[in-house]
Amino acid sequence: MIRSWIMFCRALLAGLLAVFSSIAVADSTMRLSVDVRDAGRRLYHTEEELAVHPGPLTLQYAKWIPGEHMVSGPIQNLVNLHVFAEGKEIEWRRDLVDLWGFHLDVPTGVNQLKISFDYIMPAGQGQYGSGVSSHERLALLNWYTNLLSPRDISPDDVTVQATFVKPRNWGVGTSLVATRADGEAVHYAAVSLTKLNDSPVLTGEYFRRIELSPAKGPYGEHALDLAADSPGNLEVPQARIDAFKKLVAEERSVGGGIGHYSRYNWLVTLSDTLGYNGVEHHESSNDHAPAAYLADDDTFKKSPDLLTHEFFHSWNGKYRRPAGLINGGFTLPMKDDGLWVYEGMTEYYGLVLATRSGLNDEARYAEYIAATLGQLSLTGRRWRSLQDTADMAPILYGNNGNWYDVRRGTDFYDEMNLVWLEVDCKIRELTHGAKSLDDFCHIFHGQGENGVPAVKGYDSAEVYSTLNTVAPYDWKSLLEKRLSSKEALPPMAGVEAAGWRLVFSDKPNTADQAGRQNYMCSIGFNLDDSGAVTDCRAGSAAYKAGVGPDMKLLAVNGQKYSADVLYLAVMQAKHSKAPITLDLDNQGFMRHCTVDYHDGLRYPHLERIKEKEDVLAKICAPRT
Ligand SMILES: [Zn+2]
Repeated sequence: MIRSWIMFCRALLAGLLAVFSSIAVADSTMRLSVDVRDAGRRLYHTEEELAVHPGPLTLQYAKWIPGEHMVSGPIQNLVNLHVFAEGKEIEWRRDLVDLWGFHLDVPTGVNQLKISFDYIMPAGQGQYGSGVSSHERLALLNWYTNLLSPRDISPDDVTVQATFVKPRNWGVGTSLVATRADGEAVHYAAVSLTKLNDSPVLTGEYFRRIELSPAKGPYGEHALDLAADSPGNLEVPQARIDAFKKLVAEERSVGGGIGHYSRYNWLVTLSDTLGYNGVEHHESSNDHAPAAYLADDDTFKKSPDLLTHEFFHSWNGKYRRPAGLINGGFTLPMKDDGLWVYEGMTEYYGLVLATRSGLNDEARYAEYIAATLGQLSLTGRRWRSLQDTADMAPILYGNNGNWYDVRRGTDFYDEMNLVWLEVDCKIRELTHGAKSLDDFCHIFHGQGENGVPAVKGYDSAEVYSTLNTVAPYDWKSLLEKRLSSKEALPPMAGVEAAGWRLVFSDKPNTADQAGRQNYMCSIGFNLDDSGAVTDCRAGSAAYKAGVGPDMKLLAVNGQKYSADVLYLAVMQAKHSKAPITLDLDNQGFMRHCTVDYHDGLRYPHLERIKEKEDVLAKICAPRT
């Protein structure tokens, strides 16, 4: 019902756009050149030639970014814009409602515009594609940050001849097909604007390509394209390379042997200045990881699912996409209500596939689930449903900070991970082990269309009906119950069906990046390395004593704060009736808190339920 309504509207819109497009745009072709040779100063330069018709024209900068699910097109960083027709500059006026749009009049007799502008790469700010992604030695280009296109033509119907200009001798990775490279310029085969925007380019002085699967092999070309802070960051242990090769086989197996891409490239920056995140694309992903991420085991172990998560998105998110996220362009709003499948199932398979391929192990997978359970909001879940975290995602992505426990954040990742575990276990139980969530993926994500990047929308009804095809059950009721729950505790059914239970001990959780500084399950707050309170759990002993986020711990029981001093104080309070006293710097004002807490250190872990089968081990076992 929802899908057909949307498809009807899209058809209507396409008809209207065709009428509009005939007013101002001759044909939908663009020649685009983006020069990143000044990446060290965080300036990218655009030269664009656009075929047009005389008359009114609106040029549009990307606003809603696919894969980021929000208004994150960094219009504030577009500067130095000039538009010329036959050598004469044309005036433009910004749209007063949609600030990403520029109105102008194409003079009589003119059929081409020349457009130039600079893009200022932010330093240490911005999210995902609009965040910092270049420095002296490397640069990542998301084309959509460096082009303007006619607002009234679908990006599917705009053909772009793109050129990427980079420092001489720097390596290049992208899923685009290069037709020619002359010195500093790489020219790419013409593609639609939709595909160009979905195909970032990574370049770097310290660059390495690691082939995981050859073009003529059974799975087609898969490669890690790495650009790093220094050459040592590119030294990847052979065991990890072999595990990534296995990942390709494991992932294709979940997708029913099908891949919806002609080639796949992970574009990975290995840098300590570009943050940590990943954005998915049909035929690639851009992944920002710490400099030592691939070279060092301990660094990799902290987040073994970054590349596996983004890879799974090629099926779940890019090929199969919630109907509300398909709007035919970069201008119209997206609806994020389906992210519980798009991101939630990807979170689940990102970890499962990392484990099946040997990039992770079952013990650590169990620790990760325990850390999730220990960290999930308790207060926020009493007023905001899991579904609302998805509905509100365009805003929540930028507000995952203080008072998470009350606010909730993008829980459609972590909490849905637990729910998809429950669904997987339920299918296995209903079919006596004959089927699993993988069978759902064969049908839902495979679809028998190998090697073709395409988008197929769906709604929740299709998710429920496909699950029913795999194993008849009232999936709608189960999933709607989880999505609408206002229960006090996170869903435990999946963990217990997998043969495990949540327990607490005085040993820090090894998958928790905060390590022993995470006191959320004990005294009731979380600290960063400097002793700043990153979050506080409502109702905890620390909360009752007046501790809140963004305060900085200065002293514990009258002794200058250090990680050891606090750790020992919480441990020793178990054997004492005396409260723990905390002195905190609260944005320049001093606060003294007396915390009445005596339950000792409590860190979350999973423990096997001996009388139950270890289904988690079966889920984590390689299929190939
Ligand atoms: Zn994701």
